[in-house]
Amino acid sequence: MTLNEFLSHLDGVRYNGTGDYTAKCPGPLHEHGDKHPSLSVTDGTKGVLLHCYAGCTAADICEDIGLSLGDLFYEQRATPRNTIPPIDVLRILQQETTILGIAAGDMLAGKPFTDDDLRLIQQASARVLKLTSAYL
Ligand SMILES: [Zn+2]
Repeated sequence: MTLNEFLSHLDGVRYNGTGDYTAKCPGPLHEHGDKHPSLSVTDGTKGVLLHCYAGCTAADICEDIGLSLGDLFYEQRATPRNTIPPIDVLRILQQETTILGIAAGDMLAGKPFTDDDLRLIQQASARVLKLTSAYL
């Protein structure tokens, strides 16, 4: 759930200008309504952060508006299935460019390439292109 989706469940929402919102707390400690909005709502890094100055718990607040604590967490962005950590990308690029460098040196020295050499060179070139195109 996003911050705005959570705020849509509350009444008396006001932005206080510093990244936080105040709202009327729907929690159980406000039998006669929350006349002086006591709920602080903040955009956390992983989800919506709640604080009731009267002492309602986040679980109570969520329950009273029909949500669960889990709803406070932002949905995980799907990680692409084939994502390779950047450090591994660098290691692979280092390895493949070393192969290409050796091949270039051999070519300049006039050494003949075997079929295996050519296969390694083509493979290294393809890997470099594939990895760089994924990040450029
Ligand atoms: Zn409260």
